[in-house]
Amino acid sequence: SPMPLTLLGTGAMGTALGRAWLAAGHPVTVWNRTPARTAALAAEGATVASSAAAAVAANRLVIACLLDDDSLGEALAGADLTGRDLVNLTTGTPAEGRARAAWAEERGARFVDAGIMAVPPMIGSPDSGAYVFYSGSAGLFEEHRETLAVPAGTAWVGADPGFAALHDVALLSAMTGMFAGVFHAFSLVRREDIAPKEFAGLLQGWLTAMAHTVHNTADQLESEDFTKNVVSNLAMQTAGNATLLRTAQEQGVSPELLTPYMALMERLLAQGRGEEDTTGMVDLLLRQGS
Ligand code: NDP
Repeated sequence: SPMPLTLLGTGAMGTALGRAWLAAGHPVTVWNRTPARTAALAAEGATVASSAAAAVAANRLVIACLLDDDSLGEALAGADLTGRDLVNLTTGTPAEGRARAAWAEERGARFVDAGIMAVPPMIGSPDSGAYVFYSGSAGLFEEHRETLAVPAGTAWVGADPGFAALHDVALLSAMTGMFAGVFHAFSLVRREDIAPKEFAGLLQGWLTAMAHTVHNTADQLESEDFTKNVVSNLAMQTAGNATLLRTAQEQGVSPELLTPYMALMERLLAQGRGEEDTTGMVDLLLRQGS
């Protein structure tokens, strides 16, 4: 029979998760700092606990989906975690995941950290592509895999409790760069008689067509040979930047989303790496960041 569980946090994401478990027949005990926000799940059959500590006491499997790591610490401050299986679906950093794992283990709990690759409407629909990264206690994950798979797909990324957050944030960071490019592109065509809806189709097609290049980058990183399978070398791409910048100027669009990346390309070029692919960017970012 479906595993009973406790859900801490019934915000937008927590409510979507709770709804999926309730629909699958799991007995769900919920707690939220602002009690009124548990009403939707209560109406669908959830039991509302009067405190986070009471919610934790109700079930061995405890799933948290709160704003950030600080709110998790505050919520669980008075709870007895002995013998609990704590799954943290709160977005955080890798270091927060590792520290929280050590914190939970000191309190006698098994711990898995997670990163949700979905927005609330995607939760509970198997075809949406929604999934969640998990890392930390393999024993916990194996035991509860079926329950965890109810709201979204599961992707195990290892015993290091920081890895779920690392994978999550790495993908979100790539998306951030993509969004920056997309907004620049819409701005370029915005002053003209070009329908954004038609342009959006072209954008989606182009971004999708270019997405496979990540595998070439991975191959170059693994072989440590950035001259392997170079399609457009750094020198050519950097020269092309001038056209992108002049077009931004012609269209009256600020280039400020593009220029930091282009400045790094210039630095790589100055290192004499013009015949390579742009993969040397990774070296540059690692060196500058350390
Ligand atoms: P909401 O803002 O809707 O909900 C935030 C939740 O955190 C509420 O339950 C809120 O309680 C609680 N909370 C905030 N501060 C504290 C605190 N100090 N102590 C106790 N509880 C606290 O956010 P979401 O539900 O959308 O997000 C929850 C998590 O899911 C976040 O980590 C987010 O990054 C992640 N996520 C969200 C996605 C989304 O698209 N929404 C996508 C992927 C991940 P209260 O109601 O009392 O304010």
